[in-house]
Amino acid sequence: MKYLIWLVIAVAVVVWFQRAKKSMTAGAASAPDREGAGRNPFARRRNENKQQAEAMVQCAHCGIHFPASESVSSAAGAVFCSEEHLRLASS
Ligand SMILES: [Zn+2]
Repeated sequence: MKYLIWLVIAVAVVVWFQRAKKSMTAGAASAPDREGAGRNPFARRRNENKQQAEAMVQCAHCGIHFPASESVSSAAGAVFCSEEHLRLASS
């Protein structure tokens, strides 16, 4: 039982060391980046936005730009911002 406790402590120390080493190397590698993204919350937010950025498409009827996931496309392949503009363009 005594050995089990020491084993748990040893594993905890090893895990802690590996985490510390990982965060240290990550910090060194991204040192110039950290200045922009780490300390500046706006820069970090911009990076997150870039990752979540979605393709923008233009409505064939009114010309507004909007995310592709919200688009309504006609049988001909034209993209519209709403069902109404699809109907207006096809009529
Ligand atoms: Zn439209």
